[in-house]
Amino acid sequence: MSLVLFNDLTRKKETFTPIKPGHVSFYSCGPTVYDYFHIGNARPFIVFDVLRRWLEHEGYQVTFVQNFTDIDDKMIHRARNDGITVKELADRFIAEYNKDADALGIRRPDVAPKATEHIPEIIHTIERIIANGHAYVSDGDVYFDIKSWPKYGSLCRQNLEDLEAGARVEPGEKKHDPLDFALWKAEKPGEPSWESPWGKGRPGWHIECSAMSSKYLGDNIDIHSGGVDLMFPHHENEAAQSEAASGSGKPFVNYWLHNGFLLIDSEKMSKSLGNFLTARAALEKYPPLALRFFMLSAHYRNPINFTPESLEQAAAGVTRLRNCKSDLDFAAHTRTDDSSGFDTAKYRADLQELHAKFTDAMNDDFNTAAAMGVLFDVVYLINTSLKEHEKLPAEFFTLSKAALDEYDSILGVIGSDDAEAEHDDESAEIEHLIQERAEARKAKNFARSDEIRDTLKAKGIVLEDTPQGTKWKREL
Ligand code: AMP
Ligand code: ZN
Repeated sequence: MSLVLFNDLTRKKETFTPIKPGHVSFYSCGPTVYDYFHIGNARPFIVFDVLRRWLEHEGYQVTFVQNFTDIDDKMIHRARNDGITVKELADRFIAEYNKDADALGIRRPDVAPKATEHIPEIIHTIERIIANGHAYVSDGDVYFDIKSWPKYGSLCRQNLEDLEAGARVEPGEKKHDPLDFALWKAEKPGEPSWESPWGKGRPGWHIECSAMSSKYLGDNIDIHSGGVDLMFPHHENEAAQSEAASGSGKPFVNYWLHNGFLLIDSEKMSKSLGNFLTARAALEKYPPLALRFFMLSAHYRNPINFTPESLEQAAAGVTRLRNCKSDLDFAAHTRTDDSSGFDTAKYRADLQELHAKFTDAMNDDFNTAAAMGVLFDVVYLINTSLKEHEKLPAEFFTLSKAALDEYDSILGVIGSDDAEAEHDDESAEIEHLIQERAEARKAKNFARSDEIRDTLKAKGIVLEDTPQGTKWKREL
């Protein structure tokens, strides 16, 4: 089965066929950097990171672009409140974004363009739209002319009358029709502005994505993604702008993908409800791998509910995966024996069957929930083999480790050596206590050895004495 994606343009699952064989151009709307990003924003960053990894795993050369919106009303207000420049605010929160995204295992984009560094491209895009007859200048503002664009509403599937009903003209706007939207806004006192053919001003909300997508990926791209709230008006407007600018008749985007919303305790997250959680705060409370595991435990298009219980479950899932990996490593050092009589051919065939299932799950609109289910089937197979066989051949260990590593290179929920390194200090301390306990037992100081066991138990570490030595693991 080849990769199938649910395309919001057609509201159907479609076989993915890239424009250029072997290559994928992929644009994802990034954060507005006026604050720390919240746990809802983390969802698109994580799920589309997994799609990017999957495409690469399948042999595509992916160019992944995710922008930073570093100029808009929110940026201007926050900078004013904080008494700093918009640029200082942006620099600060881009650095904070990178910190949290790195902690969540979200790979950096190939290009992370900032709106303010693309003003000439934005102006050029607006000029093309005007030249093609789809925008007009009004007293220093430039507006997209919706009535000139019959396709408007085709992504969000609403007709102009319905959209018209929900639209209004804000004070100070000089547009002909309530649905027309600003491509360029004339300068207001005290706001950052740039020179343009229409006088000093700044870009409207949507134009940066059209300009930067075209610059780095071309006028017709494979995939464009974001949260479902961006479908209208942001993506509808992007499509209108890009297609009006290119004038080629080709669609801006071939596959539009939108993730469902993250809810907190079944409610929409909002500052006024007091259930607002930044990724930074979540990272202080929960391990990064657990947050990632949680995000991938639902299909990306469905809503997902963030609750303490769901995070505890995710943390237990991660522990189970990591314990399997460390049991495997420990056994590889202590229980390898090529003459063990283990049926390696059958084991290989079982793993291959699971590999096919994993591939099918990921190819089915990157169903990470199903793929994680397969990962747990692999863990079950490994654990059962370790339990039932005292000795195992070297190939068992190579195959098992390769399977875990392969799946984790896509999902990123077991953790690389980096994640392990985080625990290094703690691990060293545990190893030290285990050593001390072994010495206490040798000296028949059972009071001390029991005390050490209890101390570790209180930290959630359980010990298991095996003929090969003492093993430890985190309690589920
Ligand atoms: P913003 O910085 O508001 O433009 O949001 C960045 C990304 O997060 C966009 O793709 C939004 O659609 C997405 N997003 C915002 N809130 C949520 C949420 N509660 N659940 C899932 N995605 C969200
Ligand atoms: Zn965008």
